[in-house]
Amino acid sequence: MRIKDVYEKSPFGISFEIFPPKTEAGDVALLEGLQRLTARSPDFISCTYGAGGSTQDRTLELCEMIQRDFQIPATAHFTCVGSTIEQLNNWLDAADLRGIQNFMALRGDAPAGSDSFEAVSGGLKYANELVELIRSRFPDVGIGVAGYPEKHPEASTMEFDLDNLVRKVDAGADAIFTQLFYHNENFFRFRDELERRSVSIPVVAGIMPITEFARIKRITAMCGAIIPDGLAGQLEAVQDDAEAQRAIGVDYAIKQCQQLVDEGVRGIHFYVLNKSEACERILDAVQIPRSV
Ligand code: FAD
Repeated sequence: MRIKDVYEKSPFGISFEIFPPKTEAGDVALLEGLQRLTARSPDFISCTYGAGGSTQDRTLELCEMIQRDFQIPATAHFTCVGSTIEQLNNWLDAADLRGIQNFMALRGDAPAGSDSFEAVSGGLKYANELVELIRSRFPDVGIGVAGYPEKHPEASTMEFDLDNLVRKVDAGADAIFTQLFYHNENFFRFRDELERRSVSIPVVAGIMPITEFARIKRITAMCGAIIPDGLAGQLEAVQDDAEAQRAIGVDYAIKQCQQLVDEGVRGIHFYVLNKSEACERILDAVQIPRSV
């Protein structure tokens, strides 16, 4: 199943995003999480590509394993970081050999300690160029791209960022997967702006349930997502109580996801951080239209 088909065939797409673990204990935990998550019949599972271009082979290995052992389509994330066009093409060939037919085409981040992303000589500068490259080599694969309801941190204005997102759509993306967000109204405004720009591909909501406040504070500080004051206050009040943080975070995500479903969102992409429990509780509680 390719990304395009998911949102054409299913009334509501559900996908999970995992990352390649760095330790053996992490591998064991991921496998346990995958067993539980795949029981929820997601439309696909995506696997990230390490910052700075690390874990490139692990991304492909895990995608192949998900398709082989769990019979669930996999989407391999892929960034421009540190690679020439020739190296990007080699990686695409390796993905093709492993039977991977879906990609999340990303630029990637500036290396730690640097403010701006620099393309390597003979490499690509923006994700729209990566979408073009993938489409030119493999016209029929599924391609997802990133969108930012609260603006990409490097973009000077929301307008500029939206214009750049349209470049990725025009280059051949099949669906937009958003950065994590906690303010649904920002997502709805973003979706409306894209509609005004005649973007008709699905805009899929990226949801990261809060299970650990300190970790989410670090993640949102990096990616620019805004934690609502009320929610931050509730979490601040229980900062020494891990269980209470999880309960507040999951409760918030249930309400957030139910509103997204009710407002006709095409799908949710869960950033599961290799743990299944919060997503299972959300999926148990939210009324989601699924084909039988
Ligand atoms: P782009 O779309 O290229 O945009 C980057 C910046 O450049 C934006 O500010 C944009 O407005 C501007 N811009 C874009 N095109 C142009 C243009 N033609 N001219 C001028 N300005 C332009 N990172 C990883 O390292 N590995 C992952 O696996 C990964 N997975 C992700 C999955 C999702 C769903 C999301 C939302 C993000 C993911 N990221 C990942 C993070 C991503 O790499 C960063 O957010 C990165 O800073 C931007 O990537 P992009 O693809 O959005 O870049």
